[in-house]
Amino acid sequence: MTTFIGARLVVDEGVVDDHALVIRDGLIEAIIPANAVAAGDEVHDLTGYTIVPGLIDLHVHGGGGYSFDDPDPAAHQQVIDFHARHGVTTMQASLVSALPADLDRQLDALALSTGDALHGVHLEGPYLAVSQCGAHNPAALRPPTPDEADRLLGRNGLITMVTVAPELPGVPEFTRRLTSAGVVVAAGHSEARAPELNAAVDNGLTHLTHLWSCQSALVREGPWRLPGLIEESLASTHLVGEIIADGHHLPATLIEIARRCLGDRLVAVSDATAGAGMPEGFRYRLGVIDCEVASGVGMVVGANAFGGSTTPLDGMLAHLHQALGWPLPEAVAATSTRPARVLNLADRKGRLTPGHDADLAVLSPDLTVGATMRAGRWIHNALG
Ligand SMILES: [Zn+2]
Repeated sequence: MTTFIGARLVVDEGVVDDHALVIRDGLIEAIIPANAVAAGDEVHDLTGYTIVPGLIDLHVHGGGGYSFDDPDPAAHQQVIDFHARHGVTTMQASLVSALPADLDRQLDALALSTGDALHGVHLEGPYLAVSQCGAHNPAALRPPTPDEADRLLGRNGLITMVTVAPELPGVPEFTRRLTSAGVVVAAGHSEARAPELNAAVDNGLTHLTHLWSCQSALVREGPWRLPGLIEESLASTHLVGEIIADGHHLPATLIEIARRCLGDRLVAVSDATAGAGMPEGFRYRLGVIDCEVASGVGMVVGANAFGGSTTPLDGMLAHLHQALGWPLPEAVAATSTRPARVLNLADRKGRLTPGHDADLAVLSPDLTVGATMRAGRWIHNALG
């Protein structure tokens, strides 16, 4: 049994002082008043720190110079370790659009790397709109087929999320097959208008890939205003939407609009690339697209466009709380509690509550990560 005393605890909507967090056998056993801690327990004093549930990142391409699309489990472990140093205890590996043979090679390798830390693979394509491809290789984009759904499902749960452009032919059927098997299907990189989005939603689509990034927007046809995917996203009543809260992709005004529209259906994702944690000028690839770290964000080389982010999820938590003034529990909800729900892990992750996995991030007063615990074991510890 391990007991942490002295730290502030973020427990659901509140911040709790003068309480101890008790860990046993990889689980949170209890949260008790500090004066109830029994002598003789293994007690650690974390005065000055804040403990939050381990962060959960739905959208990770890479980090620390390594990428999940490298078909090498050693590279995957480097990415997982990089994000562990930033408080992340569960993540999805996001793959940009690739040609079928390359994608198969990447998935074969990732199948060796999934486990508790790497929950599964998010295919961010190739079923995307060419006109909204962003930093995806246009030559790799294609509509989905029923065969392809079967092949993805044949990978025994490896694929946990797929982003599609709802307007592509075959998407409703593809969506139905995947969501029936428990895969989360998201709309993104898309020109969809309401009818196409609704057809996918009717077949189980529940998620929206990075709001405002590669989403169609309002157009005027004669006197008529036609909402795009972003307006349909914001007006939706059940869909969960992602924001890349790195202080670069979205200005504060747009994040506030998303917050008011989606409420507790808004999640922050890093969209981190191999450039995360790397110095200015560091070059990396998103699929076949050359990108570099420039002014604290990823940029496509030779184009005036973002190529993913370089900010891990702890940086987004800090941005939401410190720069945008969100209450800390709300920022924690967006980076842990709500993503746990998306991955169907809410019964054991994303909250500090008895019975949940002992997945913790220990934050310094400036919200940098001092230590990270998964299932009761330190996976990063710089507390000294
Ligand atoms: Zn991405």
